[in-house]
Amino acid sequence: MHEYSLACEIMDNVVSISESNQAKSVNSITVGVGKLTHVNPDQLMFCLEALVSDNIAQGAEIILNEIYPDMECQCGFSDSGDKFCTRGDEVVDDIRAFLEVPCPECGKMMHASGGRELIIESIDIEQ
Ligand SMILES: [Zn+2]
Repeated sequence: MHEYSLACEIMDNVVSISESNQAKSVNSITVGVGKLTHVNPDQLMFCLEALVSDNIAQGAEIILNEIYPDMECQCGFSDSGDKFCTRGDEVVDDIRAFLEVPCPECGKMMHASGGRELIIESIDIEQ
């Protein structure tokens, strides 16, 4: 599973960062997940929670912070992608929300900028 290997990579980094900072334990881990990464946040969370069971990060709270792209138009308009996650009354909160979005100013198709990152934003450790 895609998310499992990503979770392993994140957890390897968490452990090595914590150890190099002489951590006794880890309180929380905040992971930024871009909305355009094709990562399923629920699956990633499930894998991370499974992986913190027998290492220095045992018991750590895992926080997933979803990162929205900015929507930009060639006319100069730009706004945060989270404002474009509805189509009529329907909430579209996945990658489809950021494809073929017309600019509210000029009607041209906007492009998404950012939102492709998968990063450890912060690790709160006990020293
Ligand atoms: Zn425009």
